[in-house]
Amino acid sequence: MSAFDAAALRAEFPVFEQTIRGKALAYLDNGATTQKPRAVIDAVTRFYAHDNANIHRAVHTLGERATAGYEGARAIAARFLNAPSPNEIIFTRGTTEGINLVARSFVEPRLQPGDEILVTGMEHHANLVPWHMVCQARGARVTHVPLLDDGSLDLDALPGLLTDRVRLFAVTQVSNALGTVNPIRALVAQAHARGIPVLVDAAQAVAHLPAAALDVQATGADFVAFSGHKIYGPTGIGVLYGRSEHLSAMPPIMGGGDMIREVFLDRSTYAEPPARFEAGTPPIAEAIGLGAALTWFMGLDREAALAHEDALLARATAALAAQPGVRLIGTAREKVTVLSFVLDFAHPHDAATFFDFEGVAVRAGHHCAQPVMARFGVPATLRATFAPYNTEADVEALLRAVARVRRVFTE
Ligand code: PMP
Repeated sequence: MSAFDAAALRAEFPVFEQTIRGKALAYLDNGATTQKPRAVIDAVTRFYAHDNANIHRAVHTLGERATAGYEGARAIAARFLNAPSPNEIIFTRGTTEGINLVARSFVEPRLQPGDEILVTGMEHHANLVPWHMVCQARGARVTHVPLLDDGSLDLDALPGLLTDRVRLFAVTQVSNALGTVNPIRALVAQAHARGIPVLVDAAQAVAHLPAAALDVQATGADFVAFSGHKIYGPTGIGVLYGRSEHLSAMPPIMGGGDMIREVFLDRSTYAEPPARFEAGTPPIAEAIGLGAALTWFMGLDREAALAHEDALLARATAALAAQPGVRLIGTAREKVTVLSFVLDFAHPHDAATFFDFEGVAVRAGHHCAQPVMARFGVPATLRATFAPYNTEADVEALLRAVARVRRVFTE
């Protein structure tokens, strides 16, 4: 275990100042959403208490402060991804909206019957359903890179799937159901060699990978989508990074205030990106909260924090793997944060209910990845997902919870 001080980090999160059913909260549902540090809560509160106004059009002091906060958050997001310009950062409601924007604005207009969108067998529904929708509208089809038994991509199959009909390769950087980390840089290089643009679903990657893995200039990704709430920020805010040459050629998919250049009664012209894609009053406080979250996260000793989280995952994995009646789903060598498993003595939903009696919060279900469940022949899994504020005590609580379920269901 690293020397990282998880207890000090944990003290920055007010949510842990409570007990659940008389037990310390072992919050292992970070893959669904992360807890919020005081720095983020304070930034949102401060905005509403002191700076609240609408952005961009006001010349009064509060309007200027709100605009500076919102655009400042965009600059922080650009720095987080090492995007060449803040104009390549579009604020969305989250990963789902970012992917839908690319589907409707970038892909659909250029999709012909017989064309293909390539995905992988480990995608979240957010990176499947938008492609199903545009493909159905255009007579195109979705193809996929299959998974090996350990939950990694079958990379041998990739060259044959990168056909000249593929208009986009949409791939997750980290699987939310398996924890597998995909080799994004190599995948982008292979796709680009065939002239195929790549969208990266970074929802699970942003809080769990080093900066170099998320650097858009290093990976070469054409689009990257992520959600603020999975990286210690508020809900209702996310980021879509898009390379400027793509964004400037893309039509808006939502019309309204703030996205226009000129409006006449019978027609309008559009602003340049990113405003073109941000119609209406945006989630201002949430964007400022996201800026605070990214600043907080970049201020951590990230290497130590991630090493701590990885060590907890490794320890919990080894302990569960050694137990009879436990099957791990997703055992790739390159994986982070996610421990997915099934118990042959209890249904995941029943087990998760008993886990709560121990103060252990995990997720039970298909994790919005039904094709992954089908691939591994299970209807659902239990999923524990780790963050740097988790501790050895949380791992112990998880193991205690499994032991309790075993007692209840087998004795
Ligand atoms: N992709 C992945 C890999 C995810 O884990 C999630 C959230 N579970 C999403 C997309 C969707 O994110 P959101 O619901 O915040 O839009």
